Amino acid sequence: MINVKFIFVKLFVFLKFFIYFITIKIIKIKEIIMELKGKVAVITGGASGIGEAVAKSLAKDGVKVVIGDMNQEAINRVVKEINDANGQAEGVVCNVTNEADVAKLMDTAISKFGSLNIVVPSAGIIKDGLMINTDKETGKVKKVMSTEDFMAVINVNLLGTFLTLREAAKRMVDNKYEGILFTIASINKEGQVGQINYSSTKVAVALWPKILVGEFHMRGINNIRVVGIAPGYVGTPMVRGMNQDALKAILADVHIGRLIEPEEIGDLIKYVVTNDAIDATTIEITAGVCYNKSRAK
Ligand code: NAD
Repeated sequence: MINVKFIFVKLFVFLKFFIYFITIKIIKIKEIIMELKGKVAVITGGASGIGEAVAKSLAKDGVKVVIGDMNQEAINRVVKEINDANGQAEGVVCNVTNEADVAKLMDTAISKFGSLNIVVPSAGIIKDGLMINTDKETGKVKKVMSTEDFMAVINVNLLGTFLTLREAAKRMVDNKYEGILFTIASINKEGQVGQINYSSTKVAVALWPKILVGEFHMRGINNIRVVGIAPGYVGTPMVRGMNQDALKAILADVHIGRLIEPEEIGDLIKYVVTNDAIDATTIEITAGVCYNKSRAK
């Protein structure tokens, strides 16, 4: 004989547990969304490429974004696109190598949106070339990387990131804002030929999460995490604009056979922001770049 009462009791208990677990899941998802909503992000280089994608991705989840870039026209476009999509954005013309500009950028975030929680220094440039380039016929040196080309990349990528993180951290510590500083490294931190300037900056900023978190911990500063992101080849104007044969050769070394979309970097950054356990590390997102040419092992 089937015991109908017994089946009903079992069903009732099952339903109770089911509703309990679904509620917990919804609360957890809500907590993650809440964590982003209302936060304030400063993104340098936010008027193009990775910075633009990060700004849009964060704004979609309710983060108020402040874009610092040199290109006024591009800033206006990105700010308008975010605001038109019901986000909140502000733009500041800023050269990241200039202390006063960077200070103004951070102060604008605080005066306009009342806080400073997420900092993404995405302003970056390349000026590739061999340190010593020789003539194929004579074997004699015909060109060297100029000091200007070396220093331009050091200044924007390294000094610019330093000033951005320093000016942000100063305000976050003094105001007890909880948040996260990023560095944008690159898979070329491994040492890319033709990029002695660029690779040097990227290996340096890939180390900074360890250094800065160590310093913060030493001083009892526990409200600021630091995480590096080291992308492979991303489909931004910087990469899509390069010599198409060179791009084809690069893609031959990429395991998944395509460029990373800037939005995929935005998604990763958003995930890292919401996961407190990620700290003092640099995360690679490379699409599986395999180096097999032009690299001393
Ligand atoms: P991008 O050229 O599309 O954007 C860079 C932005 O930085 C531009 O809007 C530019 O105006 C701005 N900028 C340049 N110099 C500046 C300065 N002095 N002050 C303020 N803004 C300045 O480049 P991207 O591909 O989006 O690269 C962004 C970052 O990601 C860079 O640090 C780059 O090294 C890094 N990265 C890119 C790739 C890639 O494949 N695209 C891979 C790894 C790392």
